[in-house]
Amino acid sequence: MATPSTTTPAVFVGHGNPMNSLEHNRYTEAWRAFGASIEKPGAILAISAHWYVNITAVTAMPMPRTIHDFYGFPQALFDVEYPAPGDPLLAEHVADVISPTYVGQDTDSWGIDHGTWSVLVHMFPDADVPVVQLSINADLPLSYHEELGAALNPLRDEGVLIVASGNVVHNLRMVDWNAPGQGAPWAHTFDDAVRDIVTNEPANLAASLELPEARAAVPTPDHFLPLAYLTGLASAAGATATTLIDGYDMGSLSMTSYRLD
Ligand code: ZN
Repeated sequence: MATPSTTTPAVFVGHGNPMNSLEHNRYTEAWRAFGASIEKPGAILAISAHWYVNITAVTAMPMPRTIHDFYGFPQALFDVEYPAPGDPLLAEHVADVISPTYVGQDTDSWGIDHGTWSVLVHMFPDADVPVVQLSINADLPLSYHEELGAALNPLRDEGVLIVASGNVVHNLRMVDWNAPGQGAPWAHTFDDAVRDIVTNEPANLAASLELPEARAAVPTPDHFLPLAYLTGLASAAGATATTLIDGYDMGSLSMTSYRLD
């Protein structure tokens, strides 16, 4: 791949409801504007809350399938295809870059899940940038994911856009369908505290999980851990992220996204 003239940004996206992939709202417009504003990357390394498994792995197939990993949504959502090619050479390269951390090469299991494609259909609607997904190893603590994020930082000098996709506040049990566009007070408190850390002292992300609101905001680690990749990258780069867009949905989701330049 061509060597870019500048370091490629990285981004954490609060993806929220899968229906965002079909909608056009202030979040999807921010994702689209971000994609349009940067030098076209040679490849995308995506870290999605929805590939949360007991191993560290990368997708290594030449044509990853579009995975519709949800239920109870309209047929139009199951009809979405994101036909971006894979990048087996990048998958191998990721293994080299993060060595000695073991990373499995997945040639036939996963693909591009909705945590990734619900964002990329807006960010790169032509699906012409190769996509490799990196799994989130559910067995390992926040510090592992921060260190892995830091180890990936050299890829940004090779034209690889790192897209981490989750939600800072994500509690589906507490969703209030009558509160579109709104966040509960505890959700605001937690999201604000995380923003202070991400934009000022990214090495301190673990402190946010000590807050009393963390029990409600992060009932399971899957949607929060993608953020550890962005803060790990920020720490490695000696930089801080900035807010790409913020907001809430259904009381118990925060839609906050961050970019690292
Ligand atoms: Zn999700």
